[in-house]
Amino acid sequence: MAILVCGGAGYIGSHTVKELVNTYEVIVLDNLTTGFEQLIDPKAAFVKGDLGDPAILDDIFTTHDIDAVFHFAANSLVGESVENPLKYYRNNVGATLVLLDKMIEHGVKRFIFSSTAATYGIPDTDMITEKTKTNPINPYGRSKLMIEQILADLANVHDFQYVVLRYFNAAGAHESGEIGESHDPESHLIPIVLQHLLGQRDKISVFGTDYETADGTCVRDYIHVTDLARAHILSYEGMAGGKIANKTYNLGNGAGYSVKEIIETCQQISGKEAVVDYAAKRAGDPAALVASSDKISEELGWKPAFNLNDIISSAWAWHSN
Ligand code: UDP
Repeated sequence: MAILVCGGAGYIGSHTVKELVNTYEVIVLDNLTTGFEQLIDPKAAFVKGDLGDPAILDDIFTTHDIDAVFHFAANSLVGESVENPLKYYRNNVGATLVLLDKMIEHGVKRFIFSSTAATYGIPDTDMITEKTKTNPINPYGRSKLMIEQILADLANVHDFQYVVLRYFNAAGAHESGEIGESHDPESHLIPIVLQHLLGQRDKISVFGTDYETADGTCVRDYIHVTDLARAHILSYEGMAGGKIANKTYNLGNGAGYSVKEIIETCQQISGKEAVVDYAAKRAGDPAALVASSDKISEELGWKPAFNLNDIISSAWAWHSN
């Protein structure tokens, strides 16, 4: 029995592969458009290709005994999705449909899906639960919600089970120091601040200072990538063991930190001073997104092991190298 990881060369995918290979046979499928081959653990088999390519999927599903697919492969930048919606619907929805079609055809029945807090849009609550109404405000969030809805439809009629994991802000690096967060170009707050503190950028721009939050900057819930990786494995084992099926879970720490607080913590951990520029708001950014993860904690015993200091310290160690 093996696990197919689509997008296993990306940030969250590669950290999950690193945890999975300790126990499972792993095949990574990645087209390397945003991922990096060097992030893939050498214990995993690697197939370079597109998940929208039916022939590649036929080949993988006939040559390996795949028990589950973990699906990380997607475009995930809110701003880009507003500029280029078709790219998001083509890659995040269209290609995923090809994958699901081939899973059904080959009788592969377990699916773990990377979803996002962006499915909630601008929530009317300080603490988002899975019952909070979904109302995405950009094509990225909509593309993810569409697949969530399709999964529920499939599970109604096929021998098919899924877990949807709605990530809040993934951050941090693997404890081995071998892999960490890397995007090209980088747009995420923590890597940008750390790159600046390492002298790789002139300054940090804070996008918006008049949000309705305590200090006026956006509040997010940062969760360590290894905690996310472990939630995937618990979800898979919960489904394979017959404990759960067809579930949606939030994954966050349950604590919100503002952009200013993140910069402050990065300065403390690095011992360096940042140059900060207060800039205009970025399109599509909600003021505050904080998760309740009580549901996965109650049903699967998942609890985050890392706090904000651990997240930034691990990221600093990786970026410094
Ligand atoms: N942010 C910022 N400056 C940057 C990058 C991000 O002020 O250079 C803010 C962004 O507006 C958001 C928060 O930091 O409020 C987290 O952004 P990120 O892109 O890391 O994650 P997102 O919440 O968009 O998934």
